[in-house]
Amino acid sequence: MATTTTRVQTYQMFIGGEWVNAISGKAFESLNPYTGQAWALIPDGQAEDVDRAVTAAQKAMKNSDWKNMSPSMRGRLIWRLGDLIAENAETLALVETRDNGKLIREMLGQCKAIPNYYYYYAGLADKIQGETIPLEKTTVLNYTLKEPIGVVGILTPWNSPLLLLSFSLAAALAAGNAVVVKPSENTSASALEFAKLVHQAGFPPGVFNVVTGFGKTAGAAMSSHPNIGKLVVTGGRETAKAVARLASENLTPMLLELGGKSPNIVFDDAVVPNAVNGCIAGIFAASGQTCIAGSRLFLHENIHEEFLQRLVERTKQIKMGDPSSMDSEMGPMATTAQLDKVQGFVDSALSDGAQLIYGGQRPDSPELEGGWFYMPTIFDDVGNDTYLAQEEVFGPVLGIQKFIDEEDLIERANDSLYGLAAGI
Ligand code: NAD
Repeated sequence: MATTTTRVQTYQMFIGGEWVNAISGKAFESLNPYTGQAWALIPDGQAEDVDRAVTAAQKAMKNSDWKNMSPSMRGRLIWRLGDLIAENAETLALVETRDNGKLIREMLGQCKAIPNYYYYYAGLADKIQGETIPLEKTTVLNYTLKEPIGVVGILTPWNSPLLLLSFSLAAALAAGNAVVVKPSENTSASALEFAKLVHQAGFPPGVFNVVTGFGKTAGAAMSSHPNIGKLVVTGGRETAKAVARLASENLTPMLLELGGKSPNIVFDDAVVPNAVNGCIAGIFAASGQTCIAGSRLFLHENIHEEFLQRLVERTKQIKMGDPSSMDSEMGPMATTAQLDKVQGFVDSALSDGAQLIYGGQRPDSPELEGGWFYMPTIFDDVGNDTYLAQEEVFGPVLGIQKFIDEEDLIERANDSLYGLAAGI
């Protein structure tokens, strides 16, 4: 059983180049999904803290240290940040694993890959060009000039916190913006560890700020803040709708990265063992907690039986365990809410008549008792109009459907509100 008692680490937010508590003085605990115990204390930021961070970011936009910094110098700072991330990849990965319970193997892989985003955008910082536009009136010079938006607000989810932050942060910095980040309340620590590196890289105060807190308070305050020029949201559909409602008051533009219900399709000429491995990785990697999880599997009728048999055999071998151990192949769910949600999907699939082939419950092994584990789960004969086939589980639950006719397959595979990824 996972009973390790960890020392609780106290974090502060990073605003205007300084480490600060929430103005209210309140904080909340961040729990380790493997032990179920608190390991960090995070400031509970509210609207007033968001306002403080947005003001600091606005000030940075007016500060000549950032405003007048040459594009190539901006590029060099971003490159330096990439180097610092590479040097600290192991520390960052361990913090993420402790916070979201995902395998250290995966988080380390991600943290080692993140610098590439900074190197790429560092190279683009001095290549942001406008255009000259020929007009009928040849005495008029008509041109476009690309300028920073101003303050960019970034809301990140818990499943790949620094990777998803970096997708938009590197670009926002390269274009000369200032940024306020509100990480998920379930995984706030890595953004604060990351802020230390931004500081060390030498970015002027206020260019990068982190406000921690909950979605409905700090997240909502960011969404409705009139001085945020653009919002980037990576998260669930309901969150995006809530943010959009608030952002619409100020007509704040949004960039959305939302969920998926991706089909994986296997025809009868596939090399079955290889396809099985692909499907296993597609749904059970990260315990199904990825936006591109291959959660709907379409199997050609001719290989259905053989495929299912191998799939179950291989699934039974998956080693669940401590996510910080390099041997583990599947970690726990990130939160207890996620665990309950997964069970809710399993219950609904059973009542909709799907056939439970494997899993469908929490493991009963004593060494996994302290963590929020759920068994890799396989359902066959899933109706395409059921809740399991249509909604994102964000957990280790695979729903299988048979097909024989290609047109019918394409219609069913496309019959989804989501459109993030697909595999054949
Ligand atoms: P979430 O929607 O619960 O939260 C995302 C962020 O929004 C968090 O920082 C949260 O605090 C904030 N938030 C929540 N409610 C809010 C509100 N009412 N107002 C303002 N902010 C609010 O998502 P999650 O559970 O952290 O992550 C899982 C979701 O993210 C899944 O749907 C997954 O598919 C999606 N995701 C998408 C991608 C992608 O690139 N497309 C990548 C990873 C995750």
